[in-house]
Amino acid sequence: MPYLQASDISKRFNGTAALAGADLAVEQGESLALLGPSGCGKTTLLRVLAGLEVPDRGTVTVAGSVLADETTFVAPERRRIGMVFQDWALFPHMTVARNVAFGLDKAEINRGRVSETLELVGLQHLADRYPDELSGGQAQRAALARALAPRPRVLLFDEPFSNLDTGLRTRVRGDVAALMREVGMTSVFVTHDQEESFVVGDRVAVMRDGRIVQVGRPAEMYQYPASPWVATFLGEANVLAGEAVDGQAATLVGEVGLVDPVKGACRVVVRPEHLTVIEGDRAVVSAVEFYGHDTSYQVTLAGTTLTVRAIAGPNFAPGDRVSLAYTGPPVVAFSGGAH
Ligand code: ADP
Repeated sequence: MPYLQASDISKRFNGTAALAGADLAVEQGESLALLGPSGCGKTTLLRVLAGLEVPDRGTVTVAGSVLADETTFVAPERRRIGMVFQDWALFPHMTVARNVAFGLDKAEINRGRVSETLELVGLQHLADRYPDELSGGQAQRAALARALAPRPRVLLFDEPFSNLDTGLRTRVRGDVAALMREVGMTSVFVTHDQEESFVVGDRVAVMRDGRIVQVGRPAEMYQYPASPWVATFLGEANVLAGEAVDGQAATLVGEVGLVDPVKGACRVVVRPEHLTVIEGDRAVVSAVEFYGHDTSYQVTLAGTTLTVRAIAGPNFAPGDRVSLAYTGPPVVAFSGGAH
């Protein structure tokens, strides 16, 4: 049985279904990223796990004991589930050590839990600083220490990095994810950012309209999306009409190998990095974006505009006549012609 399990959770707010039968399972010591577009129910599900929201239906268990079902509701403060919010708010008038001690009982403080936790996050030398004397990254580590100090069974993070600017965000999210793995903390990170979900999640659960639609390891999700919607949500994808025979689909960009034995009319998921712009005159480059580490082209071929990623470049300019070649591995395709 998974360490943290939410089964068939539904929750309505004034007639709006925020959750419509959501199932989530997290193994002990695992970091799960909960990814989905804004409004799909991520925060509501997190609040149900924490006990801040009472579900209309469904069951929540941790370590085999029921926290919520039709007859049981364990109050949030008795769940031993910690929650870290966007602002990672520290109490400004308290030192780092006092922030971490907040919420601990005397016995734990006397046992040295504060310095133990500060050591865990590498902040023991800053114990006597006030929050306004910390860098952004240090403040987040202090807030993390405060969340870890009472030995929660599970830590929940609600969009924890969204208030940070890009550079700090990339560093801090890697840092926090590594620390969660190091201490073996069972955690759930809510995010709407695909890249972030891949960095922090051992597995990623993709949510849409109040339900979890696919769960898996990042590379497996990217390679084997369960639907065209998941494919386009997890990074960029060209979903091309195809006609499949014998593990190959005929598409606009030529034959594409398939991983599944799909037959007949289908939609083929072609990632931009699986296409190569070549010399030719079947297509025209409609836009070029150079990112430094790679280049993105929009190429229009027989009325369809496709996105192509190339490591080198830019080797073509808008208006250039070119052709496209499929240069990727076998991919997933979905039966049926319509989008
Ligand atoms: P996400 O975190 O994925 O952006 P939320 O869980 O915040 O999504 O919200 C899911 C849906 O439930 C949205 O339509 C939102 O407007 C609605 N909702 C969430 N909380 C409340 C509330 N307290 N009252 C009314 N509607 C709410």
